[in-house]
Amino acid sequence: MTDKLKRTAILNISYINTNFNHFLNIIQERTNDRSNTFIVTVNPEIAYYAHEHPEYQKIISGADFITPDGIGIIKASEMLNTPIQERITGFDIFKAMLDWGNQNHKSAYFVGAKPNVIEDLKAVLASDYPNLKISGMHDGYFDDEQSIADEIKQTQPDMVFAALGSPKQEAFIAKYRHLNNGLWIGLGGSFDVLSGNTKRAPKFWINHHLEWLYRLISEPSRLPRLMVIPKYLKLIRKAKKSRLG
Ligand code: UDP
Repeated sequence: MTDKLKRTAILNISYINTNFNHFLNIIQERTNDRSNTFIVTVNPEIAYYAHEHPEYQKIISGADFITPDGIGIIKASEMLNTPIQERITGFDIFKAMLDWGNQNHKSAYFVGAKPNVIEDLKAVLASDYPNLKISGMHDGYFDDEQSIADEIKQTQPDMVFAALGSPKQEAFIAKYRHLNNGLWIGLGGSFDVLSGNTKRAPKFWINHHLEWLYRLISEPSRLPRLMVIPKYLKLIRKAKKSRLG
């Protein structure tokens, strides 16, 4: 890695340890230079998945930046006495890069989410980011992944936003990032939020580290996914013991 960002490793995942604005400057500069850049945003659920799936762990180890997305990662870093400064979420990066792309007439490709979400997203982009060039948009329920890769190769966007959920989006990016020198980032449910199909937690909940609870209340079907958090914390406690021992 050529950048000078501080990193902190927790359970074999090396997170950037910086603040949002500093990180944003770095990725804007890299996108401007057309450096090939892969960003993964990791919450405890994804960290646990990586621990259990070596092939996924390998994929994300190849990323240029892994951001701590989720208060559970910040808490884990504190438990291990290697505190990480700040939570950096995919959605915040997405919004900031859209603003920057709009101001600087950059281009972007969007892949992911349901067809109706992509339609709504198109309308939001046209009204809120009129100077951003749309290289292409495709929903995330495709049979022919090659035609999407071909379109990205052909249009050479400055940024590729992949909102297919983990681990699918990272596998897609790792497989195709060589086709286009630009920014590639996995964004989970961000298209649903920006298009207005799901709501992000209000600021109060986010500031009080309760975004996970807000999402659970609005979408109770997420409960089984949250059940891995105690398992993640158990691994952290074990890591703490072995660091002490
Ligand atoms: N998704 C997709 N293709 C798939 C499976 C999921 O495009 O084969 C989309 C889904 O529609 C949603 C996003 O991926 O927009 C995943 O959202 P989720 O809330 O699971 O992600 P999180 O924000 O929790 O990472």
